Amino acid sequence: MGAAKLGMKNTSLKFLQQLVETPSPPGFEARGQRVWIDYVTSFADCVTHDAYGNVVATINPGGSPRVMLAAHADEIAMTVNYICERGFVYMRRVGGIDPAIMRARRVRIHSTGGDVPGVIGNVPPHLKGRDGKESVPKMHELFVDLGVSSRKEAESLVQVGDLITLADSFERLGKQIAVARAFDNRVGLYMIAEAGEILAGAKKKPSAEICLVANVMEEVGLLGARQIAYSLKPDVALITDVTHATDYPGVEKRMHGDVRLGKGPTLTYGGPNHREVVTLLERVAKKEKIPLQRESMSASTGTDTDVVFWTRGGIPSALISLPNRYMHSPVELVHLDDVARIPLLMAGFAKSLRSKQSFQVKI
Ligand SMILES: [Zn+2]
Repeated sequence: MGAAKLGMKNTSLKFLQQLVETPSPPGFEARGQRVWIDYVTSFADCVTHDAYGNVVATINPGGSPRVMLAAHADEIAMTVNYICERGFVYMRRVGGIDPAIMRARRVRIHSTGGDVPGVIGNVPPHLKGRDGKESVPKMHELFVDLGVSSRKEAESLVQVGDLITLADSFERLGKQIAVARAFDNRVGLYMIAEAGEILAGAKKKPSAEICLVANVMEEVGLLGARQIAYSLKPDVALITDVTHATDYPGVEKRMHGDVRLGKGPTLTYGGPNHREVVTLLERVAKKEKIPLQRESMSASTGTDTDVVFWTRGGIPSALISLPNRYMHSPVELVHLDDVARIPLLMAGFAKSLRSKQSFQVKI
């Protein structure tokens, strides 16, 4: 499919930007969820949420089968762990933060009184030891400078347990690339919302009930997905998240496979990815002229798919991934054509389902 046909509307781009720029650390996703709810409310038949903040937007309630289109709503973060006498803030990681790239970053500490700006301190080269070795810091060696001079003053702004995110924002690079702090996985929420919008506006009403799910706390152990997959009890589930693009210097393709930006979403073969669901996705992609890339796996995908598929007696599930360069950094890159293709694939899949369709491995 040509890039022209995939062109993103300005309103869609604005929504994507708003999603990735709204802090949504694990366990503290409410503000990010509100942005998503305000958007999907315009076309969903109903929007509900559970005790922990997993949100479900339903289209065509009462339809059959019940298909779950899910993405995790949280982003990697840190939390205030200790405040020293001089008012410097020490952190604990919440999800896969890489301490090697955290020095000299601007951060926001999300306190009950609002967002507090700070910077992660960095010792300049002039003041470093003369042994010439650049050390990778341990998490507990990094500290946030709030511009205060005592613990008391710091505690008037932030408390132990307040969550911390980086302050980097959304930007376009070249024609079709975008960079942001939290594409993992705020972009997932964008993609399921777009899929829902396509389905809600379809001329022919789908047979399936479509549940768009924005689940919480993925980055700290795939937690919200377990809760919502159990309570929602879908007949089939598609999970979307980012995957590692390997098309830049320094990544060993012989170890990590060949995944490129702009060449379409990836399907993953093996593990929780149900054969029949994956086969139907391939068929839909062919019909809709959506290019696909392939990834193999031995045991776990590292995504919510790993916990959704074993819920109750087993929910037929498949992962659809968005190629992403520099994951878990403030400069995650994605290709906007890939971002536009995943909603088409998800919506095409949901449209193709017949009433009471079930997925069984043929034996
Ligand atoms: Zn993710």
